[in-house]
Amino acid sequence: MTKKILILPGDGIGQEVTSSMSEVLHYLIDEQSLDFQISERKVGGSSYEEFGTPLTDETLKIAQNSDAILFGAVGGPQWDNLEWDVRPEQALLGLRKSLGLFANLRPAFLFNELASASPLKNHIIEDLDILIVRELTGGVYFGEPRGIVENETPKYGFNTMIYNEDEIRRIAKVAFEAAMNRDKKLCSVEKANVLEVSKFWRSIVSEMSSDYPEVELSHQLADNTAMQLVLNPNQYDVIVSGNLFGDMLSDIAATLSGSIGMLPSASLNSSSQGMFEPCHGSAPDIAGQGIANPIAMITSLAMAFEYSLERVDLARRIESAIKIFISKGLRTKDISNSKEFIQTKEVAPSIINILKDEHE
Ligand code: NAD
Repeated sequence: MTKKILILPGDGIGQEVTSSMSEVLHYLIDEQSLDFQISERKVGGSSYEEFGTPLTDETLKIAQNSDAILFGAVGGPQWDNLEWDVRPEQALLGLRKSLGLFANLRPAFLFNELASASPLKNHIIEDLDILIVRELTGGVYFGEPRGIVENETPKYGFNTMIYNEDEIRRIAKVAFEAAMNRDKKLCSVEKANVLEVSKFWRSIVSEMSSDYPEVELSHQLADNTAMQLVLNPNQYDVIVSGNLFGDMLSDIAATLSGSIGMLPSASLNSSSQGMFEPCHGSAPDIAGQGIANPIAMITSLAMAFEYSLERVDLARRIESAIKIFISKGLRTKDISNSKEFIQTKEVAPSIINILKDEHE
């Protein structure tokens, strides 16, 4: 069956890194004669400039009918003072909400050759390979009631941290299944010592573990996980957490591997439809200079092959080509520790050459 892919380059380096990713995608389409239908649309600030909105109804409709959305990045200082509902970031929220993308998968891994780029000592960080599964559409970020009350003394602000059983089960299922495909270790992270919602989360995740007898389940308090991620990150395989703690932990994990330009992410719904994007933003400070690292975007394509396009084999090939690329000493500016580095536009052709060599 034809697979539909929507490419949304966005703003700043989003356009540069998606262009490199597209080259790899088109190479694989030709090599494998893949039956893919590809569309490309503006999103974020560039969509606002042309259509007065960061996400048009037409783009949203194409996204809803796509198997995979490959998203670059949005935003930039020129749009920082716009009204809230037309700011570039609203496009992301609109897509996540309308597609019901509740599961955010953020791998954090290190190529040992790049260990010196990590803020941690080599022996702590070597062989890092963890996956953080963050609940993305619930918890305190969306809980009601919420608000700021100004007509009482003292004034106050409040939010509600809430998870129902179904929301916990569906994210835990994604995490257990991911663990089954990896080292079969799952750590569920919350604050069950102080929050009822966390106690409830822990009880549901524990209950589900009987469906996955091969997965070794542990529970940890979020503050301890933040510390452990820095002290001994290799103790983890898969971590599952709610929206708030997952937000913090995935950023800590992203920092461990040195450059944000290396790390992909996937946001999935229950029909395996997904949006795949690098962890970084539009990097206005380097946009247009041709020095952005497109590897996070290219590994996001690998995640799309794995989770939404039913071609895990191609995901593994892209990942292995990137490993070879790094082992050959090829470096973009952000991961180079010398004055020698290659330009963004040189990355995809090198990776395609490796894919070709490995295919022959
Ligand atoms: P950023 O991730 O864009 O940049 C942080 C730093 O990392 C910058 O110094 C940048 O040059 C560097 N960097 C990021 N990606 C890189 C890459 N691929 N190669 C080399 N270096 C890279 O974060 P920021 O500066 O806080 O935000 C810039 C804009 O991006 C803001 O408008 C923000 O709202 C937006 N943003 C968008 C997303 C998204 O679209 N998902 C995510 C985060 C930030």
